[in-house]
Amino acid sequence: MAIIISKSIAGYRRRRRAAAAATGEQRLSPDDPPRTQGGRPGTPQPTDARAAASVGVPHTPVREGPAGTAAAPRPDGPAKVAEGASRETGTPVPHGSGRSSGLPVIEVRGLRKSYDGVEAVAGIDLEVRSGEVFAFLGPNGAGKTTTVEILEGYRRRTAGEISVLGADPAGAGRDWRARIGVVLQESQPEDELSVEECLSLYAGYYPRPRPVGQTLELVGLADRRSVRCGRMSGGQRRRLDVALALIGDPELIFLDEPTTGFDPAARKSAWDVIAGLRDLGKTIFLTTHYMEEAEYLADRIAVLAAGRIVAEGTAATLGGRDTEAAVVSFTLPPGVPAADLPPLVTAAVTDDPGHQVAARTPSPLPLLGALAGWAEARGLDLPDLQVHRPTLEDVYLQLTRESR
Ligand code: ATP
Repeated sequence: MAIIISKSIAGYRRRRRAAAAATGEQRLSPDDPPRTQGGRPGTPQPTDARAAASVGVPHTPVREGPAGTAAAPRPDGPAKVAEGASRETGTPVPHGSGRSSGLPVIEVRGLRKSYDGVEAVAGIDLEVRSGEVFAFLGPNGAGKTTTVEILEGYRRRTAGEISVLGADPAGAGRDWRARIGVVLQESQPEDELSVEECLSLYAGYYPRPRPVGQTLELVGLADRRSVRCGRMSGGQRRRLDVALALIGDPELIFLDEPTTGFDPAARKSAWDVIAGLRDLGKTIFLTTHYMEEAEYLADRIAVLAAGRIVAEGTAATLGGRDTEAAVVSFTLPPGVPAADLPPLVTAAVTDDPGHQVAARTPSPLPLLGALAGWAEARGLDLPDLQVHRPTLEDVYLQLTRESR
């Protein structure tokens, strides 16, 4: 199942309307998701298909006709989750480890998307394997949302081959949709229902839902089960959003900027929830602007810039980060000229040092040894001595700067 934490429903609708107005593009999914599944009173009636999916209600993506006209949704009942679709085999992994386990869940070859002749996605290849947390990074306008919405089946592509959970998202049906979880940043659960009642209601839309109690435990809301949805804090609502997306027991989860606007504690809590999903063996496609989030969670990272993937790897290896030179920096004590430094250090200094010395070296230990011996022999201290390796953010900024 895929889980997507995305921008707010209202924001999303605004974006969708603006996009549709700008391009005349039809969405692939109907405006009206199933409204009467099971004919239950209080059935949520989200007006946006992606929003519906975000609260775990499977809907019917509709294949566009030749003229881009959406066909009528199928009148059948809730999707059946495929046998064996749920995988609960995950070995606990504290955070992104570069591991990759199973078969490809998402395969993309030569994906292109043009808006009015302008290429927003300019031919990308991707593979996300079962049980991975895959992070998709890129500056504003890089094409992340376009790509994600194509993978979700909400946007048409111009060219390329795509398989998500074994199907082409552009034509996949309700069974496929039920295997994907969508979480919006602000959903609108039933304010008057308790958390447990709300989850039970949504569980009723699925043939094989995850048990409500288990879902509450997973998102850390077990002790809030009796609280009314309308009285929860922002952070608790976020957890409920995730719970609602998980109640159908999806396999693939898209997390679209899941922690934008969170305070540090709420962000860390959200990371714990996401790490918990990975431990359940879910596959997670994460879009984020926070490097520390990608570093903490992701097994693999791809950087998208101007519609192209410019680097792919683990947080440790992305863009050659593991082989980049380290920088040893310190301030020379007053009255000590740079010319006095040991040759090993001066040879590694690239710019005129002045009092601030920065020496680049692929292996800092010999340089540090020479420096320490030199300082000790003279009774000097170097209190601001640092060894700096490029951070993920350094590498990301370099990669995206180069591609401008
Ligand atoms: P952000 O980080 O700001 O959300 P993004 O990486 O998700 O950006 P996209 O929203 O996919 O980027 O946009 C990629 C490019 O495609 C941008 O130049 C954007 O202006 C353009 N674009 C996106 N949607 C449309 C549309 N419906 N019509 C025309 N251009 C569009």
